[in-house]
Parts: sequence; C-alpha cells; structure tokens
Amino acid sequence: MNHPILQENYKNICKKLPPHVQLVVVSKTHPVAMIQNVYDMGQRHFGENKVQELLEKQPLLPEDICWHLIGHLQTNKVKQIIHFIDVIESVDSRKLMAEINKHAAKANRTVKVLLQVKIAEEDTKFGLEVSETKELFLEWMQGQYPNVEVNGLMGMATFTDDEAQVSREFSFLKQLFKQLSLQKELTTLSMGMSGDYPVAIDCGSTSVRIGSAIFGERDYL
Ligand SMILES: *Cc1c(COP(=O)(O)O)cnc(C)c1O
Repeated sequence: MNHPILQENYKNICKKLPPHVQLVVVSKTHPVAMIQNVYDMGQRHFGENKVQELLEKQPLLPEDICWHLIGHLQTNKVKQIIHFIDVIESVDSRKLMAEINKHAAKANRTVKVLLQVKIAEEDTKFGLEVSETKELFLEWMQGQYPNVEVNGLMGMATFTDDEAQVSREFSFLKQLFKQLSLQKELTTLSMGMSGDYPVAIDCGSTSVRIGSAIFGERDYL
C-alpha cells in the first residue's frame, strides 16, 4: 500500500538535508507497512527506541536495514539485539558500555555506538554528564571495550521554542565532539529531531533522527 503523504514528507525532508548529513528515520509506533514504504523509496537507516518493538518489527522487514537503537537500553536487554543492531546511539552508562562489549564479544562482532550526553538545561533522565563522557571515551581509547566502536556523540536539546537555548545546547555538544576528536577522530554527531533539526545542522550535526515530520504525529495508546 502506498502512502502519498508519507512519500511527500520523506522527499521534502531529504531535499532539506545537506549531503553530509545522514537521515535516520524514527519509526517508533508506526507499522511495518509504512516503514516498508519509506524503505522502498531508498531509505536504509531506521531508529527505534524500544527493544520489544524493534524485536517485533525487525524480522518482518528487509535484512539490509541499518537499525539504530535511540532509546534508553536496559543492560538485561542487550543480548536480545546484539546480533543485528547496527548502531546503539544511546550509551548512557559505563555499565551499559561494558555489557555491550561483553555480548558483542560473545557474538564475535564489533558494535558501533554513540555516547549519549546530557545537554538539555531541562531535567532529563538519561545521558552521561560531560565528565563521565570523557572518562568513558578515555577508557575506550585505552582498549577496555575492544568489541565496541565509539563513532561519536548523541544529544537531545531541551523541548522549547527558544531557538537560542536549543542552539546553545547543540553548540555545546559540538565543542565536546571537537575536543574528543582531537584524541581520536569521531565521525558521527547525532543531534536534531523533527522540531529542531535545522538548528542542529547549523550547529554541526552530521546525523538527524526524524520521526513525526515524516510519519505525522504519533498516537500513543
Ligand atoms: C522519538 C525520537 C526522535 C524523533 O522525534 P520526532 O520529534 O518525531 O522527530 C528522535 N530521537 C529520539 C531519541 C527519540 O526518542
């Protein structure tokens, strides 16, 4: 089944993104038929935030999809996704990093991750403090997590109409990204969602995670 509005939204977003910015289409809460529709237009990177939902959808969709986990990951669920996940964008603790490394080693693979940093001035539950991010990055550089490949950082700005604040928060993450890149080249700075991706790109984002601007508003049951 074709969804004309979905196709138009997708094309519009693609047109607006500069060539160096990757698009991760956030498909959480949306059915596989709609995901397939976006896939058929050429999209390969998709993001889900819940392990259970990802496990239900992944077997029903083409094998060459690159799945990004973008939500908080409980350590006891790492094992369930380790054999197929492409990027875990939401590494928010040392314990999780260690668990990913352990299961990646068992599965005889290397898993790409991003370190999720707390940048929002509003209170947010998940994400590393800057000091923790630096420590974890150093440990990784020293070889403590050989089956993990840290590709970069992920961050979410405060949910606000205040563009100056959002810009401040994204720029802060870009600075940290540059700082860490001096020690080891990082490729991915994941910031920007439907409401703030233009600001994020202005601040140096290389990867945006977009859901509702493509699929429309989500219905949470
Ligand atoms: C849901 C979600 C997105 C996409 O949000 P939209 O506003 O629908 O574009 C991006 N990143 C994370 C971490 C999310 O949970």
